[in-house]
Amino acid sequence: MAVRKESENTFSEYPISEDIAEALKLLGYQQPTPVQQAVLPFALMGRDIVAQSQTGSGKTAAFAIPICNEVRWDEVLPQALVLEPTRELAVQVQEEIFDISRKKRLKVPVVFGGMPVEKQAVTIRQRSHIVVGTPGRVIDHMKRGNLILDQVRFLVIDEADLMLDMGFMDDVEYIVSQAGDGRKPQLMLFSATMEPHIDHLVDQYMHDPKRIILENDQKTAEGIEQSCFQTEPEEKFGALLDLMVMENPDNAIIFCDTREMVNTLFQKLRRKKIRCGMLHGGMEQKDRLYAISDFRKGIYHYLITTDVAARGIDLSDITHVINYDFPTKRENYVHRIGRTGRNGHTGKAFSFVSREELHYKQAVEAYIGTTIPWKTLPESGSLVDKQQEFQRRQKEKVVIRQAKGAVFDKDIQKLSIGGGRKSKLRAGDVVGAICAVEGVGQEDIGIIDVRDSITYVEILNHKGSIVYEELQSKPVKGKVRKVKKVQN
Ligand code: AMP
Repeated sequence: MAVRKESENTFSEYPISEDIAEALKLLGYQQPTPVQQAVLPFALMGRDIVAQSQTGSGKTAAFAIPICNEVRWDEVLPQALVLEPTRELAVQVQEEIFDISRKKRLKVPVVFGGMPVEKQAVTIRQRSHIVVGTPGRVIDHMKRGNLILDQVRFLVIDEADLMLDMGFMDDVEYIVSQAGDGRKPQLMLFSATMEPHIDHLVDQYMHDPKRIILENDQKTAEGIEQSCFQTEPEEKFGALLDLMVMENPDNAIIFCDTREMVNTLFQKLRRKKIRCGMLHGGMEQKDRLYAISDFRKGIYHYLITTDVAARGIDLSDITHVINYDFPTKRENYVHRIGRTGRNGHTGKAFSFVSREELHYKQAVEAYIGTTIPWKTLPESGSLVDKQQEFQRRQKEKVVIRQAKGAVFDKDIQKLSIGGGRKSKLRAGDVVGAICAVEGVGQEDIGIIDVRDSITYVEILNHKGSIVYEELQSKPVKGKVRKVKKVQN
């Protein structure tokens, strides 16, 4: 959840349509965050935007709300393209845009490397309103003719500084130069820091952009209780176990400096039968996505990760941050501990510091302007009671936390229909069949996804069961098909 300043401002003050406002309400967004307050009026007027803002500030919705508001449902080609530096961010941003546009029934496909190109191609060749993707894969789809950017009216370059760090700027520039068929799309660029290369992109491609800088003089949030333990490397693992027992956190991120250390720590904790997950850049794509989603669902209480892998990823309600390795860059300390204590909640940030790492601690203290107090861990023997509670917790049945977007699912029934592209079934045929059911109209049909041999369609407004029953005996494109209910 984002940090919000008290304000009278609510979303109803902006000229946004009813379906978007309704989705925001369901998502629990009552008031715009500072970045949203700064961006929305200008973005809704069609201005180009350059905004300096951090992850966690609500910047995704700041660009997603105006885009979802302006995109026209009845167009077939993509009207907006959102570029993200990493696959995890692409997925996260796609989910947020999808949620915001849920009531408007927009199709928001996501494309990124490490997944089969052809499957993505089938999706983006169908009606697509807003495409989210990483630059390399976006170009790949452009060159294969799967992704046509002629109708793109909005283009977002998100996390521009990370794009630059990862060497994607040439690709980004190429995409910007190709989008919009002669008419320049409305460009919105978001970056945590501004650098000359980014300025160059702004000067070259943007028209009188509105520059937005959010004051953030306070480097660390007030609600975070910080402390350090003096620990030499050989004692660190034992100290971590004691700390885990002592705190028994609900949601903790454990930061390590390298992928190797993430791997090692993960194995060691698993051997102790402690439920945990890991995330680093050397993992396979699908494993990275599973790691994030399992952690969000509450399948485990500890996520072990590196700075790079965790950057930008929205993990809410983090109760504890543990610096297993003390960060060597002072900014990383601030980023890491900023994962907790958000949105009025309190959080704890613990760091292990060896003699060799002392100078890093001092550098951080000079940077944040406070000293991080030392603490000592209680003797292991004094933790017996807590140990039992900790063990019990590791064995208890997991109660899966629902994703934010699940609020929309209760009104929606997804159906599968036997038949797809190979048998020349089109979205229009499905719409025709469903609208032939009495009492059901176009406004009750959500997203239609035509695959090779199967088609998925969402039925809205609690009409899923009627449509399901009727289609057991009524034809879809001249044939009675196998129609099943699908779990969301
Ligand atoms: P972001 O900075 O876009 O990664 O967003 C951080 C988190 O804040 C995400 O979980 C959003 O869903 C959430 N969020 C965005 N806007 C609001 C809002 N106005 N009120 C409450 N939460 C929000």
